[in-house]
Amino acid sequence: MNYRSEPLSRLDIRRYALSIRQAVLPEGNLWFPIEEFLECLSELPGNEDFFFECVKDNELPPNIHAEYSLDENCMRIKETVYLGACDGNGRDRMTLAHEIGHFLLLKHSKLKLQRCFSSDVPCYCDPEWQAKCFAAELLIPANQVERLSPEYVAKKCGVSRQTVNAIENDKYVFRNLEQ
Ligand SMILES: [Zn+2]
Repeated sequence: MNYRSEPLSRLDIRRYALSIRQAVLPEGNLWFPIEEFLECLSELPGNEDFFFECVKDNELPPNIHAEYSLDENCMRIKETVYLGACDGNGRDRMTLAHEIGHFLLLKHSKLKLQRCFSSDVPCYCDPEWQAKCFAAELLIPANQVERLSPEYVAKKCGVSRQTVNAIENDKYVFRNLEQ
């Protein structure tokens, strides 16, 4: 069983992530305070039902770092992952951004998530692809990092080198989509 959400292009997702960055960060800041943003999410209008909880690591399967449940409107995060994100660990910060992406994008696309039996969901309708793009765009602002070295971006944005390398190899990210 696969899920299919409303189509969103990389550019749609980039614009959305950028609008969030602009709303919460002073101009020019690279570091996105993901754990503080998560703390404030339920205070934003319309998000009152949303909550998150840190759970003991053994309460989620070994390969799952965090999960968002649409039914409960709840995000569950492994304790060590949450603490890692607060500590600035790139992989853990990306995990929080990814799950926040699931929550916000599903809201953004007016909660249209369909179960479908076909396995060929186009990537722009795939909630996993969308959340992955959102996490990268939220933590690494494409318009600010184009001329910076991968080491610098990883350090200043608080992401892993692997993430920066993966994004550098993704021609969609560093190309200026607005042109
Ligand atoms: Zn996901």
